[in-house]
Amino acid sequence: APAVMWFRRDLRLADNPALLDAAAAGDGQLIGLFVLDPLLWDEDEEADARRDRLVASLRSLSDSMGGKLVVRRGDPAEVVPALAKEIGAVSVHVAADYGPYGQRRDRAVEEALDCPLIATGSPYAVAPGRVLTQQGSSYQVFTPYFRAWLEHGWRQPVDPPARVEWIGRWSDALPSASPVDGAGEGAARQHWQDYLDGVAAYDDERDRPDLDSTSRMSIPLKYGEIHPRTMLADLARQRSAGAEAYRRELAWREFCGDLLARHPEAAWKPLRPEFEKLAYDEPGDSFDAWCNGLTGYPIVDAGMRQLAQSGFMHNRVRMVVASFLVKDLHVHWKHGAKWFMRKLQDGDLASNSLNWQWVAGCGADASPYFRIFNPTTQGLKFDPAGDYVRRWIPALANLPGRAAHEPWKHSAEGYPARIVDHAEARQEALRRYDALR
Ligand code: FAD
Repeated sequence: APAVMWFRRDLRLADNPALLDAAAAGDGQLIGLFVLDPLLWDEDEEADARRDRLVASLRSLSDSMGGKLVVRRGDPAEVVPALAKEIGAVSVHVAADYGPYGQRRDRAVEEALDCPLIATGSPYAVAPGRVLTQQGSSYQVFTPYFRAWLEHGWRQPVDPPARVEWIGRWSDALPSASPVDGAGEGAARQHWQDYLDGVAAYDDERDRPDLDSTSRMSIPLKYGEIHPRTMLADLARQRSAGAEAYRRELAWREFCGDLLARHPEAAWKPLRPEFEKLAYDEPGDSFDAWCNGLTGYPIVDAGMRQLAQSGFMHNRVRMVVASFLVKDLHVHWKHGAKWFMRKLQDGDLASNSLNWQWVAGCGADASPYFRIFNPTTQGLKFDPAGDYVRRWIPALANLPGRAAHEPWKHSAEGYPARIVDHAEARQEALRRYDALR
């Protein structure tokens, strides 16, 4: 009898241990299923960038299966058991999902199934919960986690199954979506191979949004078009500070996944509970200005416009805009995190919420609250010639070099005045923090 391979965040055939197990269980006869879960799909109608990207990735996956991907819309706890019954499946195979919703969903599916639900692997090189201190507890701080993670190690990438016959069944049509370049497993592999040639420079250039020299692999990683294990194996063959630095960033992704698996509430609540009492302002006009890139601070506005227009933002700029929302506008990080999830193509609950918590000072291993980014200094330091801000803000086009970061000293028609005075906002943030202590 055939087995079901239920794809979720692993839209690839290579280096997919769950697929290997499915092929062995079904003796090569497989149904490949993707469930369009209304809870996730309908959650936010403005999440266009993410939806378009998902549909493009599913199309590519189906192409690599001879068009046989079965897509069904509905509650997974109904859809998966119904399909398994329809074909008399021996088992249903998945890569484990460690997110709070994914865990609940998988328990419900398991209960409703007549055959076993078998989880093999996860979207991480080391599954959440595996890296433990000598006392058997989990890490709260990144650096010791990183050391233990390296020591724990991971398996080598696995080949796709030698023989698979994809059995088709009726399938819902994929939702209509705008085409997206570069989606899918083949494109992800190619993009990664091309990027690896220059990874040696990563260490020096990764903080510079103007150079745009980071990998943008967060997007294929989010959809599982490539597994981090594959990337780590390639990095291990390089001997450069750039490759080392890159591996450390991949470990941050794993650390975030580990933290969220242990603290599902950290998705929207501060990990350090005393921060529940910090005084925040309700999101109002200034929040709207932040979302729309109209704060009057070029590095903040360029980042927010890059996000709205392209579904991506450079990491350094993510930190600056997040700090600005929390510490200059005094708005709770969860509002910013929601906006990011709506707009980011790589929007990932674990990486997003835990990074917001890091910036907001309330995470496990966070930047101290009283260290407050000055948006102008950040802009001048990391975008020294102003190329990044001019790229995203046409009204700054005529301000050469560093002048683009201080438009208030010049004339930039059509560009808004600053909505807050950073020095005053900083004092206010510190006052609120002192009240907390
Ligand atoms: P590169 O610099 O090329 O890094 C390589 C890979 O390492 C990334 O693809 C990513 O998988 C991982 N990585 C790098 N930095 C981090 C980090 N700080 N935390 C976790 N993983 C990291 N990343 C997401 O994937 N999804 C999110 O929703 C997300 N939200 C964020 C929100 C905020 C407020 C901040 C400060 C960071 C967020 N990040 C998120 C982390 C980081 O900004 C992105 O992973 C990175 O910018 C993606 O670009 P890249 O692939 O070119 O990165």
